[in-house]
Amino acid sequence: MGSCTKVTNTLQACQYGNPEIKHPSLKVTQYGALVFWYNVWKMQQMIFTTIILIIILFSGIPPVYAFQTEVEPQVLKQGDAFALIIYSESSIEPEAYFGKRKLYFNKIGDGIFKAVSAINLNTKPGPYLIEIKQGEQKKKLRIKVNKARFPIQRLTLPEDMVFLSPEDECRANREAERVSLIWPVESEKIWEGSFVVPLQSEILTAFGAKRIINSKKKSVHTGVDFRGQEGEEVKVMNNGIVVFAENLFFGGNTIILNHGQGIYSIYMHLSKFRVKTGQKVSKGDVIGWVGSSGRATGSHLHLGMKIQGVSVNPLSVIKLKLLKSSYDII
Ligand SMILES: [Zn+2]
Repeated sequence: MGSCTKVTNTLQACQYGNPEIKHPSLKVTQYGALVFWYNVWKMQQMIFTTIILIIILFSGIPPVYAFQTEVEPQVLKQGDAFALIIYSESSIEPEAYFGKRKLYFNKIGDGIFKAVSAINLNTKPGPYLIEIKQGEQKKKLRIKVNKARFPIQRLTLPEDMVFLSPEDECRANREAERVSLIWPVESEKIWEGSFVVPLQSEILTAFGAKRIINSKKKSVHTGVDFRGQEGEEVKVMNNGIVVFAENLFFGGNTIILNHGQGIYSIYMHLSKFRVKTGQKVSKGDVIGWVGSSGRATGSHLHLGMKIQGVSVNPLSVIKLKLLKSSYDII
């Protein structure tokens, strides 16, 4: 019976506990658990922070930069010009490349720089990167090139205008080669502020129009045709230097202006020139008159533009808000 009582006491002790012995040990266990879970929580935080840092480093999510970027216009299309603006704390001139093409930055305010660039007409729609550097700061800016809708134009012309004699073909090739040597010359900035329309008129043929001539020959229109009467004044789009004023087989009387930083404007089919090669011209000056010289079916002005070697829609350049001087209000 005595052992039975002992067993019962032990059971009682187990069931109800001994307040003098068990309570302090319970306190120690609860504190230990708290420390344990606190450490687990801290460890989790460290792991979480490390994972976030790894994601930022390897996923292309840009960390906070010393400079901010903006692209104008917001929607970029094949064959369009665009401006890249850098907002920075630094006065160091940024450097940037779009593919192999250099962007020329102009200071337009304290720590604000703007460059003009262009998207080739044949650029495949999709995402592209612009590599920007300012001092030690580097950034890869992602831009999206959207598909442009270029119209299709079917033309019927006299056969001798479409298929050239060997002599004419030789002349046209020689001229094309000479003109192609102009574009790689990227001089100092001459242009100031926005580019303006050279002739106030409606558009006859859009930039990028796909031409199918006599159902056989295909070509792409790398300029804009303005309706114009013979003798109407053609004005300069921006300050520049005349680098070409000659008669071409296709373009007829053609003027090419260098605006600096790889920007050129081209005026074709003129009836007469008013300027000579090497002459400086200012925005709005009359450089010649509308005509139908060269391979033209009627009087009109063909206006072309090149930006760093790329044929670009002149209307997209005119749309860009470019400042006149360094500290004009944006
Ligand atoms: Zn044209």
